[in-house]
Amino acid sequence: MTDRYQQFASSGLGRQIVRRLGLPNPTPLRRYKPGDPALNGPALVGAAEGGRLSETLHAVLKSAGIEALTEPLTAPEGERVTHAALVFDATGIDRPERLRELYDFFHPVIRTVGTCGRVVVLGTPPESADGRAAIAQRALEGFTRSVGKELKRGATIQLGYVAPGAEAASESTLRFLLSARSAYVDAQVIRIGTHATTTAEPDDWTMPLDGKVALVTGASRGIGASIADVLARDGAHVVALDVPAQGDELSAVANRVKGTSLQLDITAADAPARLVKHLTERHGGVDIVVHNAGITRDKTLGNMKDSAWDAVLAVNLASQLAINDALLEAGALRENGRIIGVSSIAGIAGNVGQTNYATSKAGVIGMVDTYAPLLAERGATINAVAPGFIETKMTAAVPLFIREAGRRMNSMSQGGLPVDVAETIAWYANPGSAAVNGNIVRVCGQSLLGA
Ligand code: NAD
Repeated sequence: MTDRYQQFASSGLGRQIVRRLGLPNPTPLRRYKPGDPALNGPALVGAAEGGRLSETLHAVLKSAGIEALTEPLTAPEGERVTHAALVFDATGIDRPERLRELYDFFHPVIRTVGTCGRVVVLGTPPESADGRAAIAQRALEGFTRSVGKELKRGATIQLGYVAPGAEAASESTLRFLLSARSAYVDAQVIRIGTHATTTAEPDDWTMPLDGKVALVTGASRGIGASIADVLARDGAHVVALDVPAQGDELSAVANRVKGTSLQLDITAADAPARLVKHLTERHGGVDIVVHNAGITRDKTLGNMKDSAWDAVLAVNLASQLAINDALLEAGALRENGRIIGVSSIAGIAGNVGQTNYATSKAGVIGMVDTYAPLLAERGATINAVAPGFIETKMTAAVPLFIREAGRRMNSMSQGGLPVDVAETIAWYANPGSAAVNGNIVRVCGQSLLGA
């Protein structure tokens, strides 16, 4: 799907018209390409006094090849200074009066964030802090979400809540948030916890999934095909699953990623057992399960047939629970395993004509909440992405006016690409993300829908 408006707005004439009329001006986003540097410039790092993360931050930036500055760059009068990233350790803020330290750090430099730059605020999960400190840490969310709305030119901000004791487990998340892999993730709140029993940092951060087996459902096209591409690029053997009717497209994807294909309707009564058999007999188990297959059957509730309700709930939720249970019961999910759900902002905000879909996608969030402690006990994790408007066949079918609204009503003024969802899933899948459990991260460019 091409975004013709974005193409027009980045042309010479288009740029002038867009500026004169004050129209949305979507910046082409920088996306990860193997071999690219993590950031295309230095990161300015600051901290509130008493913060816990300075040492970790500097070590991670060094290992990711990012130059860390502790003083802002300066330039001769009239020249513009840019920082590729601003990172602020706010864990030291122990009472609301000290929130002023956010202002003091960011106010002089916020306008120096470069095109597709990154801003990361790090805090302590309010539930792990006491009294006034918890209030101050909770306040970081409002700051982050507002800065997200003010940043221009494809820049993003995120808030990472790092639990005390989880400092060393934050590398995979910091690398993701600072890189072009998180291009369409904006104003999200991510929790890094201490439940991880295994920390397995990859030997090679460019091939973090080397030796892993990843099952991707609905892999024959759209977002699923992109997930297969990205997980394979990162080193995984991908088992690409889709319904038999998608057989040809499925084989093409499996061949492209040098993986294998499995034709299966995940709603079939024997699907969980067949899947467990396939994964254990052919691969000795599975490391990463991505529940991407999903359908829509849109109608307002009064016009909706019960078959449309049942089909959506079966594919988008019930089959996933049955598969999880069968994999866990058989012990087929290996040590440091990952289950990753695909929710939707419709599951957070609700949507007209999508009572069935939004119910199923909110159910995916419930699945993450419920399974997270069970998986933590087994040294595994479960998380989900909640995509916003992503350019796929699904969204190409949306009527033009609604499609345009969906594309522009976010801080990036554009739709995301399947690869943006796939990169976020690859971050969850990374063996170094063992401390990331129970999260729902929206891949929506800070859509106005879903807060
Ligand atoms: P898509 O329709 O292009 O792909 C979905 C795939 O799932 C298809 O290949 C389909 O054959 C497969 N599938 C459906 N039922 C199945 C079953 N019973 N067994 C096995 N496979 C089955 O959709 P997409 O846009 O790529 O969406 C992928 C996921 O992302 C879905 O879960 C969707 O709800 C979610 N999502 C998409 C968007 C978006 O903007 N496109 C937004 C939010 C969430």
